[in-house]
Amino acid sequence: MLEIPEATNLAKQITKTISGKKITKVTAGLSGHKFAWYHGDSADYDPLLRGKTIEMAVAHGGLVEIHAGDAILLFGDFVSLKYHGKGAQFPRKYQMLVEFEDYTSLSASVGMYGGLWCFREGEFDSKYYDIAREKPSPLTDEFDAKYFNGLITSPEVQKLSAKAFLATEQRIPGLGNGVLQDILYNAKIHPKRKIETLNIDERTTLFNSVKSTLKEMVELGGRDTEKDLFSESGGYITKLGKNSLGKLCSVCGRNIIKQAYMGGIYFCAGCQKFP
Ligand SMILES: [Zn+2]
Repeated sequence: MLEIPEATNLAKQITKTISGKKITKVTAGLSGHKFAWYHGDSADYDPLLRGKTIEMAVAHGGLVEIHAGDAILLFGDFVSLKYHGKGAQFPRKYQMLVEFEDYTSLSASVGMYGGLWCFREGEFDSKYYDIAREKPSPLTDEFDAKYFNGLITSPEVQKLSAKAFLATEQRIPGLGNGVLQDILYNAKIHPKRKIETLNIDERTTLFNSVKSTLKEMVELGGRDTEKDLFSESGGYITKLGKNSLGKLCSVCGRNIIKQAYMGGIYFCAGCQKFP
């Protein structure tokens, strides 16, 4: 799943690896997938992109946006982007392939669900995309204590759990169920704690954890549970997640617990108390 660290890392890798490459062919709509979303008719992607040169890529929350002339290629959710050198083997199944004049290519495969949208700049009407571009990223200085305070003191979030506050309604675009677990673990806040029960110190700790946890994940090239443009795992060792189940908390020695709550939560019963 593309979240802030992975989208940021992929955008960097794409800019470094494929910018300056001229597109010779685009094949989209392959390997029929019920939950692969396109913009309009995927057959129009080739005429839109052919002959254009990749300029650079940026991340907006968990979205990866690639610029090529007046066109944009946008990828999100469970999309896996892979670079293939000259003569390299393509994945067995993919939903989109962008070939370049030096015989290298970029493929996109959709897992559970995901978007592979190509369009002329300004022609994609999506509230989700607009919000991801407009709201400040926790990786920027604009996302400061004052901004976070505005989010967490808002009346409509007081009855929400910490998990729902952080990871729903695109309140913080690109902060999803994956990175959420470590953010709350580092802040020592149980995912089910209601926002109105958090005292000033806990709110400050939560803000700092959002900033520092994501920063660390980005600096280490994403999480170890996700793969990058070259099929390498990220360097950030996830503290809470499927890999940590059954292990002991490195801080207090208690068990890491998993519960079915809003798509699943992990927590340490010692560090993250639930009153
Ligand atoms: Zn613990």
